[in-house]
Amino acid sequence: MSHHAKPKVAKCFKCKEWFLIKFTPWKNRFSLKNDWDFWTQKDTNKKDTNKKDTNKNICDRCLKKYREEIRKIITIPRLRDTLRRYMSRELRSI
Ligand SMILES: [Zn+2]
Repeated sequence: MSHHAKPKVAKCFKCKEWFLIKFTPWKNRFSLKNDWDFWTQKDTNKKDTNKKDTNKNICDRCLKKYREEIRKIITIPRLRDTLRRYMSRELRSI
């Protein structure tokens, strides 16, 4: 375990509950699954000048609860696969 492995405390913008965002060591950053902007981002091949960082965090429970809504918002097809995989792999128990 590296010293980076400590999870980050964040507040969910949906339910207003505090939760922990896991650190992803092999990517050397915090999990993007709990970052609302990750799901709603525009295609990154295009110019990034309009990117606004809303800094919204969403907890796993709300990710699951709002997954249909999120799926409709997603504009990048591969993110839909990412969401589906994440739901079946990590959120099954919630
Ligand atoms: Zn929540």
